[in-house]
Amino acid sequence: MAQEGLDWPNLDAIWISHFHLDHCGGLAPFLAGSKHAAAMKDRAKPLRIFGPVGIRRLIEGFDAANNYRLLEQPFPVEILEIEELEKFEVLPGLEAVAMSTPHTDESQAIHLSDADGKTLVYSADTGFSEAVGAFANQVDLFILECTFIRDKPIEKHLELAEAIFLIRKAHPKRAMLTHFYPEWDEVNCPEEVAKFEPMCEVIEAIDGLRLNI
Ligand SMILES: [Zn+2]
Ligand SMILES: [Zn+2]
Repeated sequence: MAQEGLDWPNLDAIWISHFHLDHCGGLAPFLAGSKHAAAMKDRAKPLRIFGPVGIRRLIEGFDAANNYRLLEQPFPVEILEIEELEKFEVLPGLEAVAMSTPHTDESQAIHLSDADGKTLVYSADTGFSEAVGAFANQVDLFILECTFIRDKPIEKHLELAEAIFLIRKAHPKRAMLTHFYPEWDEVNCPEEVAKFEPMCEVIEAIDGLRLNI
């Protein structure tokens, strides 16, 4: 966040989709850093951490590894465990709903909508599920994982054809693919996407990319 010039001392909320380390491993070093960061010592605003049921236990587990006291911060930290399909407010004017996905027992996709009616769905990690496509119906931005190119070796992620199928089903204004495994490294993503002639713009996620919705 610092490298990208983001206003990290004022980060309002974190949402954790599931407990694989590539999706939650940054929590512990972030909270270890924020305890001592000069830029956060006068902060009074709470930091809210949302996640599936079990997120509190996960953070307590990180804590227990070395008695880090990650929740003793200069500012309040609130941990909110979210049940699927239970509406919650991330910030005033930013509503969210999470939906279970076929990836891990706790994994969830998220739907965000703001006061201006802008909407976003992020699949996080998921196996193929038409429900994820329905969840993203007509959103402004549909962010999907696209772990594999084709012939996926495991069920619990998507390959490109499945991601495109879900985009067609959802009819979003725009879509974005992310969570590429290394087999994508030598592959031209836009070229592979174009072969499917998707019905909307499909953006390849890259580090530091910023989009206005
Ligand atoms: Zn995962
Ligand atoms: Zn992952």
